[in-house]
Amino acid sequence: MTALHRGKTPRPATGSATSVVTTDLMEKSRIFFPEAHLSPELMAELAALGHEKLGFDNIMPLFSVCHESAALGCQVDWGDRYSMPSCRGKIANIEDDIKVREDFLQQPECQIPLKALNLLRKRYGNQVAIVGKVFGPWTLGYHIFGVQEFLIATLLNPAAVHQAINRLKLVTIRFAQAQIEAGADALCLADHATKDLCCPHAYQEFLQPVHQEFQEKLSCPLILHICGDTADRIPAISQTKIACFHFDSAVPADQARRLAGEKLALMGGTSNLNVIRKGSPEKIWDDVKEKLAAGIDIIGPECAVPLDSPSENLQFLASSVRLLRREKPG
Ligand SMILES: [Zn+2]
Repeated sequence: MTALHRGKTPRPATGSATSVVTTDLMEKSRIFFPEAHLSPELMAELAALGHEKLGFDNIMPLFSVCHESAALGCQVDWGDRYSMPSCRGKIANIEDDIKVREDFLQQPECQIPLKALNLLRKRYGNQVAIVGKVFGPWTLGYHIFGVQEFLIATLLNPAAVHQAINRLKLVTIRFAQAQIEAGADALCLADHATKDLCCPHAYQEFLQPVHQEFQEKLSCPLILHICGDTADRIPAISQTKIACFHFDSAVPADQARRLAGEKLALMGGTSNLNVIRKGSPEKIWDDVKEKLAAGIDIIGPECAVPLDSPSENLQFLASSVRLLRREKPG
């Protein structure tokens, strides 16, 4: 929690704002997807292994991208132990004046993670950071209107996109507040405004003010998560006063640090493909060293880890953070 504010810590922090679950971790614990998305007890148990077995300093139980979208009425394929859930199709057109159902927080898809966060809070008290996760209006827009229609509208019908974002940001705020009340210490704010799908100007026009509003309105630190190359928008992100940015290895760590400035904490940046999934111990060790040297505040994977990654690699990453610290006392 101190590292989220770039404060001084006894050793570097290690963790992730996104899922660290792998199929082999499920096999070892006998708790599997999709059941772990749909039962508060199983969700809490499986998420806790991120701390208990892998050695990370946080626990984050919302593994998928689907909970609030499912509660809003999107069709969800909850996947299996080898695949993550995904949202299917769309439920509205961009020009529709969508009404968010009043009782969406009472839907089971929201209640399950809220109860899981509460179980974790009761079990761990203040021993480990409990991190929740909400999606911002850009990602919710993909799920509600379809990726293609939403992105085309950012060019052809920006007024409709602004209207949609103003409606959908209330979903983010309400689910976030409920997660804080349930016991979350910090929240991942995932909003997939990557360079491939959103130019830096669109980030500034549509999202920067909303992300700033989230951090102003919510009473816990936010960890913004955007995959892909974000170098051209990290300075804009740092202006939102969001506490931390969970960044992708597409941006080299030292460049991310330079662009983020002094205030914005950085998490992640370790390649899921080359380091977490395929990396040797030497490669993981060198990667941790590089991230520490670059001034990354919380060391861990760049995004939800591929399910077929070896969980030993995640374990080794977390223990490398501790060992490398010990090599250089003071
Ligand atoms: Zn991601």
